[in-house]
Amino acid sequence: MTRQLTITIDGPAGAGKSSVAQGVARKLGYVYVDSGAMYRAVAWLAMQAGLSVEDDSEAITRLAQTMQVEFRPTNGDQHLFVDDEDLEPRIRLPEVGALSSAVSAIPGVRAALLDTQRTLARETGVVMEGRDIGTVVLPDASLKIFLTASPEERARRRLEQLRDKHPELTLGQVLADQRERDMRDSNREVAPLRKADDAIEVNSDGMTLEQVIEHIVQLAEGADGR
Ligand code: C5P
Repeated sequence: MTRQLTITIDGPAGAGKSSVAQGVARKLGYVYVDSGAMYRAVAWLAMQAGLSVEDDSEAITRLAQTMQVEFRPTNGDQHLFVDDEDLEPRIRLPEVGALSSAVSAIPGVRAALLDTQRTLARETGVVMEGRDIGTVVLPDASLKIFLTASPEERARRRLEQLRDKHPELTLGQVLADQRERDMRDSNREVAPLRKADDAIEVNSDGMTLEQVIEHIVQLAEGADGR
């Protein structure tokens, strides 16, 4: 039987983690888990309930503890369903992204999602992407990647992705939003964004998506099964 690995891909906003992780999972026939989508779902539910991060962290934690999360293949993509409702594409809105970063600093929310994430990774043959997957969620993973790119390159890519739905956005706005998220993600007390000691850093500046995917697939072929 072919050896199946657990692969983690962490890195800052806009480094291309989702496209890379999906591509690697597809090539290897693995399951892809987008942990950021879960934080976005909590932010979306909090928004719908009119809760604020400053005043209602306990109520937001309860939402994270009780929501039933499932990733289901939908229209050739993977959609996040909560309590049987498809939350795509609503959780991709920029305001939900900004709120998800604040929500993800609530320790109770992180604890609730940690359990769900570990359960999803129980079977091997998983590519999970996020901020703390190699450091906290799956510290024993077989292959850990820390995916980076320069701030300008990341903002340019994000603007490209959002252009159809949000033609009003400028590079300056995307850069400012990205800077704020990076800062909050790197400086929070619980599970800040940082490279695991045993992670391999891949800087994707000047590389095409296909080249990054191929590079990681090759690293996976040389990795020990764990
Ligand atoms: O990756 P994505 O931009 O969808 O993640 C949304 C937010 O969720 C991030 O800004 C980050 O604050 C948070 N997040 C996290 N830990 C993860 C994944 C995402 O704190 N493992």
